[in-house]
Amino acid sequence: MKTKLITAQYERLGITPFAVDTVLNAEKEVYNKFEELNQMITYNQLKVIEAMQVYRLCDTHFNWQSGYGYNDSGREVTESIFAKVFGGEDAIVRPLIVNGTHALTLCLTGVLRPGDKMLAISGRPYDTLENVIGTAGPNGSSLMEIGVKYAEINFLEDGSFDEMAIEAALKAEPIKMVYIQRSAGYSFRKAVQIADLEAIVKKVKAIQPETVVMVDNCYGEFLDYREPTEVGADLMAGSLIKNPGGGLALSGGYIVGKSALIELIAAKMTSPGIGKECGLTFGQTRTILQGLFLAPTVAVNALKSAILCAKTYESLGYEVCPSSDAYRSDIIQSVKLGSEDKIVSFCKGIQSASPVDSYVTPLPWDMPGYESPVVMAAGAFVQGSSIELSADAPIREPFVVYYQGGLTYDHGKLGVMSSLSQMERDGVLKK
Ligand SMILES: *Cc1c(COP(=O)(O)O)cnc(C)c1O
Repeated sequence: MKTKLITAQYERLGITPFAVDTVLNAEKEVYNKFEELNQMITYNQLKVIEAMQVYRLCDTHFNWQSGYGYNDSGREVTESIFAKVFGGEDAIVRPLIVNGTHALTLCLTGVLRPGDKMLAISGRPYDTLENVIGTAGPNGSSLMEIGVKYAEINFLEDGSFDEMAIEAALKAEPIKMVYIQRSAGYSFRKAVQIADLEAIVKKVKAIQPETVVMVDNCYGEFLDYREPTEVGADLMAGSLIKNPGGGLALSGGYIVGKSALIELIAAKMTSPGIGKECGLTFGQTRTILQGLFLAPTVAVNALKSAILCAKTYESLGYEVCPSSDAYRSDIIQSVKLGSEDKIVSFCKGIQSASPVDSYVTPLPWDMPGYESPVVMAAGAFVQGSSIELSADAPIREPFVVYYQGGLTYDHGKLGVMSSLSQMERDGVLKK
């Protein structure tokens, strides 16, 4: 009876019987993994509640100031809570940080000075940082154009850090910042595990203790028992419309790290001498904190959805990364579909499974900051929120689609079914 009701509902949402069967079969094979993940939710949920209690969060913290925003206790408590949850000395959490790129940019421009060297040890950073660093060529404002030196070291073939090259680079000259991107971004590789991060930070610090280790933590929050700043990273940043916003934050970014670094960054964010003391929250502390409260559950729902997506497409013979049984460190699931029409179909399916803009057809476009045209499915309550069910793909070889998010597991599951149904309907699915 119950099964019949659910099946009929899937049918009304345009899901084909083949998609229902394939996904339900895949689910049976990964369900045992979810138990372990539930424990992680428990741990991180308790950690968030503890921080809120320690800082005596109360109703008046949801009020806000006007003008300069001096002595905004809600803003200050919010930043203290983030610092505690992520194990940093201090934090910046602002709705006016417009996205993850902006939070990362503030870290880079806050710390790096002309003549300093930045060394990326997880390969080329995320697409939107190419213009910030200057690897996409001169634009008049990049770090390289003001005299910051930049070098990068790729991962080894097996996805691990190239320790020999890293060691050699650190022994050759002073490095102001070692930069690590935890998530895979738009590349077909695994995310960096917390244990591997811990080991490499130790190695770096052993050679150059003064080097600032900075982590792009986008998509990684609440997917492990420790965050990068709890295992030795000096600085990390991320977006509030990804994991730590829990789907509720309307906009914003966070930066957590050593107090001295946060002070330098705050001086760039507002002005030297003003730093963190000013800046309105526009009434957003309630949603930011309620989002943080939900984030451990939401992030893991997205993770479970990603595992289901991996298992489903594996069962159909596609190459996926990470594989369904891999240990994960971000919420991104990439599926190598191999052609433009397949990735567009996949994204159409995700879009049509969305609660918002479900009737819209996603098409590839030249998105600002990205190197190739990108097709994006994002029927989200918050524009561009990729902790909500979404998929995107740059239109380039080898035609990999990136699936992520799902505030609830059932929505993520519907998304996987819908992507499959759409590919089947468009006649591009190999069975
Ligand atoms: C999302 C993301 C960013 C920042 O992107 P925004 O769209 O500016 O928030 C940076 N690095 C990684 C790995 C990301 O996933």
